[in-house]
Amino acid sequence: MGMALTLQTGSRGNDVANLQRQLAAQGYNPGSADGIYGPRTRRAVEAFQQAQGIGVDGIAGRRTFEKLQAARNTDSFDAGNTTGVTPRRTGDYRELVDFARARGFTVTSTNGGRHNVGSSHYEGRAIDVRTRDKTNAQVEQFIREARAAGYHVGDERRRPAGQAVWSGPHLHLEIR
Ligand SMILES: [Zn+2]
Repeated sequence: MGMALTLQTGSRGNDVANLQRQLAAQGYNPGSADGIYGPRTRRAVEAFQQAQGIGVDGIAGRRTFEKLQAARNTDSFDAGNTTGVTPRRTGDYRELVDFARARGFTVTSTNGGRHNVGSSHYEGRAIDVRTRDKTNAQVEQFIREARAAGYHVGDERRRPAGQAVWSGPHLHLEIR
């Protein structure tokens, strides 16, 4: 292996485009995958670093790439799609991601990972949101707002009866 890859404002090329695609796949918005590390890409890197709890410097270095790799392994079509279903509405989940993040909630899964067979996650129109770091009142408020926005909300703070796969307490948001 060569030197560890570090990308930052001003960097250009395929590595930057790959970084942009990986950020987009995690629900961040670095702009188009144009291979130019500009302000939007820097802000997306900062948001990702913040969410991952690593140092926020807007520079994609070893830790950032490790976290992206880990996120990809646990949450991607490639790693987790056991159904072979081609996503019908890929990208829709990003509006759910924005909705949750704008309200201070952490998105734990989007279009990948392990879900029940036939899950809307595999169609790119659902996300899961962490609840254990929020109060009941905050969660209830979030559910009301999500429903008011027209999203289907599955309250999976307890394992739904008969559900094969359950990753712990969360809300399931879905575009129907
Ligand atoms: Zn879900």
